[in-house]
Amino acid sequence: MTLLSIRNLKSYFVTRDGVVKAVNQVSLDIFENETLGLVGESGCGKTVLALSILRLLSENTVVEGKISFKGNDLLRLNEEEMRDIRGKEIAQIFQNPLSSLNPVLTIGLQVSEPFMLHRGMKLADAWQSAISMLRAAKIPSPAERGKEYPHQFSGGMRQRAMISMGLACNPALILADEPTKGLDVTIQSQIIELMRELVKDRGASMLIITHDLAVAAELCDRIAVMYSGEIVEVSEIKDFLSNPGHPYCRGLLRSLPLNGMEPIPGNSPSLIDVPEGCRFHPRCEYAMERCRNEHPEIYEVENGRKTRCFLYA
Ligand code: SF4
Repeated sequence: MTLLSIRNLKSYFVTRDGVVKAVNQVSLDIFENETLGLVGESGCGKTVLALSILRLLSENTVVEGKISFKGNDLLRLNEEEMRDIRGKEIAQIFQNPLSSLNPVLTIGLQVSEPFMLHRGMKLADAWQSAISMLRAAKIPSPAERGKEYPHQFSGGMRQRAMISMGLACNPALILADEPTKGLDVTIQSQIIELMRELVKDRGASMLIITHDLAVAAELCDRIAVMYSGEIVEVSEIKDFLSNPGHPYCRGLLRSLPLNGMEPIPGNSPSLIDVPEGCRFHPRCEYAMERCRNEHPEIYEVENGRKTRCFLYA
């Protein structure tokens, strides 16, 4: 069953240098009880896509299309209705918890907030629920540590606190943006394991944004790959890892350390000035005449795989 359905989403914003087409005609489904990885190089539009779902983009952004969630089009709700969905139905876990946590409030109080805001609990009950969440996130001595401030927590512990806040109200969907960025490798794998456990236990779905294919391979059921503001491939993670379709995806896999770290030649285009035809054509080893002039649509290939490439037309 589809939980969230994005259709023809465009998120454009105006800068002094021109119009940035950060998300261009994106259509994507997130199913119930699945973890979908959204992968791509920095600046390809992944974070803007997540912020578009939550309607957290600045006012100079033009967002068009449809984002269906539990019978509502999120783009048509008013701000009050949207506030009710954020944190309660759709939660966010962003990178760099130090800048997301309030430095002058204790961790316990910050994790109590969603219980008071969305569940109408009084502080004493919310505090007890917050301590239970911190325990579920495997923070040792949660009753004592809940009284500490963010600067007294290590990076890994702060991310555990953010995960506690995100999951506090049992959201149906979690949007996690590079949740392990900046953490030591051993802490990264602990956080990944924790997220996998908590998300599956609660029957939630998760969209995890990452540039790290190893994280996607560990956590995801399916993967969507973005390039230059567009989705270029969607597939089961096992199919992607064994036999990627789109030439960009093949390049991504070849660039992994275990595959020889062969870089993809060239750079991603500016989102202000994207190439005509297939946006990947200046870097593609299979580029044909058609690729320079025509824009490829997404083709259904096999096993639910979709690929934006004329090789599959
Ligand atoms: Fe390469 Fe052409 Fe496919 Fe684009 S459409 S990825 S340029 S083969």
